[in-house]
Amino acid sequence: MRFKKITAALLAAIMIVLPVTGVSAAEATAVTGNGKIVCIDAGHQLRGNSATEPIGPGATAVKAKVAGGTHGTTTGIAESELTLAVALKLQAILTSRGYTVVMCRTSQDVNISNAERAQIANNAGANAFIRLHANGVASPAASGVLALAPTAANPYCAKIAASSQALSAAVVNGQCAATGQKNSGVQLNDTMSGINWSQVPVTILEMGFMTNPTEDLNMSTDNYRTLMATGIANGIDAYFASAK
Ligand SMILES: [Zn+2]
Repeated sequence: MRFKKITAALLAAIMIVLPVTGVSAAEATAVTGNGKIVCIDAGHQLRGNSATEPIGPGATAVKAKVAGGTHGTTTGIAESELTLAVALKLQAILTSRGYTVVMCRTSQDVNISNAERAQIANNAGANAFIRLHANGVASPAASGVLALAPTAANPYCAKIAASSQALSAAVVNGQCAATGQKNSGVQLNDTMSGINWSQVPVTILEMGFMTNPTEDLNMSTDNYRTLMATGIANGIDAYFASAK
């Protein structure tokens, strides 16, 4: 009798809990990726590589294989460290949303050129190639988020210009909606090796200015990095939702 009472009480409790658990479980496993492949490149690496490579397929102009990157003027954090931290968070979020994620790097001590990074995305058949960077300029006043995309006249990758511009707008808007940072929109650029070598929709996301004390300090915290990665993932969702 006593056992039966406990069982009945437990059943009642389960019946109350179930609908709540059902809703949150559905939200937690909301699959927006549908198996789409996203390649993430955490910009830079522990040490730059000043050896050169053509800026695009067949180009005579060359640039360094990987620049050293900027650093936080207040925190001293290297751009390569910041981009990797956000990239790993973005990988986890996108994976949980049902995307297949390919990482150009998951550690600092690598040596992968910008052209090679684009080829990783190409070879993976990525539906989107997200290149994470942060800005650095002389003035500490400059702040905000912007994304780089190729023009329709790009001699190497014009066929991905429109999709790359749409992807760029989506991720800038997604990040700014999540963090409240200044939205500096999309800038067109045909000089970036990692864009020019890409055959899949690509964006370089400049997540903020490491030379701005406020943005540098914000971007150094785990919570803010999670916020940025969540916003970028929301932007990727929005891109695929509109690109159907
Ligand atoms: Zn960079």
